[in-house]
Amino acid sequence: MLFGRAKKNPIKIADKGVVEWKYTTCGYCSTGCSIEVGLNAEGQGVAARGVDDASVNQGKLCIKGIFEYELFNSANRGKTPLMRDKVYRPYLEASWDKALDFTAAEIARIQEKCGRDSFAIVSTGQILTEEFYTLGKLARGVIGTNNYDGNTTLCMSSAVSGYKRSFGSDGPPGCYDDFEHTECLMAFGSNLPEQHPIIFWRLKMALEKRKFPVIVVDPRVTMFAQMADIHLPITPGTDVVLLNSLAHVILKEGLEDRAYIEAHTSGYAEFAELVAQYDPVSASKICGIDEDTIRHVARVYAKAGAAMSIWTMGINQSTHGSDGVVAINSLNLVTGNIGKPGGTSLSITGQCNAMGTREWSSCSGLPGYRALEKEKDRKEIAEYWGMDPEFFPKQRGLFMTDIFPAIETGQIKGMWLIATNPMTSMPNTPRIRKTLEKLEFLVVQDAYSDVETTQYAHVYLPAALWGEKEGCFTNTERRVNLVRKVMEPHGDARADLWIFNEMAKRFERGQKLKFPATPAGVFDEMRELSKGRMLDYSGMTHDKIEAQRGLQWPCPEGADSGAPRLYTDGAFQHADGRAKLIPLAFVDNNERPDEEYPFWLNSGRVVEHFHTRTRTGKIGNMNKFSPTPYMEMNPDAAKKLGIAHMGYARLISRRGDAVVMVQLTQRVPPNMVFIPFHIHECVNRLTIGLLDPHSRQPAFKQCAVKLEPAQCQLEAAVVNAEARTF
Ligand code: SF4
Repeated sequence: MLFGRAKKNPIKIADKGVVEWKYTTCGYCSTGCSIEVGLNAEGQGVAARGVDDASVNQGKLCIKGIFEYELFNSANRGKTPLMRDKVYRPYLEASWDKALDFTAAEIARIQEKCGRDSFAIVSTGQILTEEFYTLGKLARGVIGTNNYDGNTTLCMSSAVSGYKRSFGSDGPPGCYDDFEHTECLMAFGSNLPEQHPIIFWRLKMALEKRKFPVIVVDPRVTMFAQMADIHLPITPGTDVVLLNSLAHVILKEGLEDRAYIEAHTSGYAEFAELVAQYDPVSASKICGIDEDTIRHVARVYAKAGAAMSIWTMGINQSTHGSDGVVAINSLNLVTGNIGKPGGTSLSITGQCNAMGTREWSSCSGLPGYRALEKEKDRKEIAEYWGMDPEFFPKQRGLFMTDIFPAIETGQIKGMWLIATNPMTSMPNTPRIRKTLEKLEFLVVQDAYSDVETTQYAHVYLPAALWGEKEGCFTNTERRVNLVRKVMEPHGDARADLWIFNEMAKRFERGQKLKFPATPAGVFDEMRELSKGRMLDYSGMTHDKIEAQRGLQWPCPEGADSGAPRLYTDGAFQHADGRAKLIPLAFVDNNERPDEEYPFWLNSGRVVEHFHTRTRTGKIGNMNKFSPTPYMEMNPDAAKKLGIAHMGYARLISRRGDAVVMVQLTQRVPPNMVFIPFHIHECVNRLTIGLLDPHSRQPAFKQCAVKLEPAQCQLEAAVVNAEARTF
């Protein structure tokens, strides 16, 4: 009996009239869930379900996946190309030929006038791997700009940089199956239940079979922190101090894996000398974790037979993001926890294909983890593509976060944005607005015509959504999975692959290079270029990937399946075959709270939304659970300022201000507030986004604000409601 009711109504499951289920892979986060979209007799998407024999999600989906089929018919999908000669004039509909001709002519005009690098391309982690590879060929081999990067600089570049510095290459070494083997899990800056619900479910399944300690390092009492055995509420931006101190205790107490260090690492002496300075007493004063807890956690981690670390944006989005990743890697190297079941350094990636762009887009180098800085790599790719290697630059160009300042200074005059939305996602958006206004030419390619940046564009190119085209995504555990085409693109929208191929035809150099028309044709090129490399795809085909519900790389020719882990033999990608233990001195360079701006501002994700809400903001079942810009605030701090629960407050930073609804909660300490980052004209009006020196990733999560009750609550409610419309 439920709440005293003697008679319960039977649960009715509506018959949605599904006549066919089509296999694909979820297009939101990097978990990589296999999904089937149900189509009715009219060919409309009416349902979605998890694929039960897929190893990643075993039939489960989170709320975003469950309602993903609604995207096909969601509001403000782009139907046709749009053009205008001035950004203050209204858009006019255009044919694809006209829009592409105009765009190609503008790129050529700007490059002729100001040089090849004066036109920038900024892409995404959302399109298919075959599309990334093709865009890379277009950007590097045809248009020839070196100012070409992806929005993954906002989320994953610290992980990439940290992996390269420690192991000599990018590539997460572990997998989800490590949960089944580990004896201790430490999570840094990762609210797994909200960010990656199905990875969290895999962890919970492992914990139900066999209990092991879970340690969560996070300044906020997140959902993950609430279920942890130990929660370390660290002072923002001080992870390197905590990690150095953990290593200090491990080395001082002789808990390290001496044999592993000697056989597989370099730099031990310098590393040991540096961490010797980070005794728990001194470290506790900086990182806010008491000395006994530091010692206890170090012992628990080092004494576990296998221990693993996972992390997300709490580490990456910092002025020490790359150092934080290196320090996590070093912790696992000194305890011998790399390349073994349950022992790993696993960066949980963000977007569905953040890995695909890292592997194949040529943003930071050349395809297949090749480097522009290496002559051999430049020659190999130039020969394969049939072009002069001298056309390639000899080192990478600007990161996304340096491209925008280069627009301010006039170095960059034109830009092509592909499935990215800097007007919401970049720090300090008031500055980004002025920056975009300076461009002579901006083209925006996106599935939605109302994406905020179209306000500043001259051309809008409507792109197909994930299930309207075919190709691959790579997930967090290096698993390549297949996105099958579920239905035709909306209106006259086109697959990004088609758009890149058509653009290539409009340049003389593009006519000389081969651009395969089909995703399978592109995949064949990738397979050949990957043969014998760390990310070997040569044993994969689209059909084999679907049949196995994803294959992990490396998967060499002839292999039945892929390898679950990297570095199992202790051989790393640095020239000497060893991993590097790198000493990291802590530099306190964040904007910190002070008398004038006394609160830390922290930001993050909620489970219902994805990134800038371009898609989830259109789905009623998602939006109704989290419809509004809000702030978590500690009740004691609120009381002192006269700020009320469910009232409105104004936050002010040195960059701008924002009005939010207030949710009082003990999840944040009295000197901190938290705001989800998804909403336009909200948290990123306030952030400063100082950049990591290695990865150029912004410190979204560390800046200072002051607060006041919104003077007119009614007006604040109107502003708040307006913010929902994007
Ligand atoms: S966990 Fe990620 S990949 Fe899986 S259904 Fe949810 S959004 Fe999609």
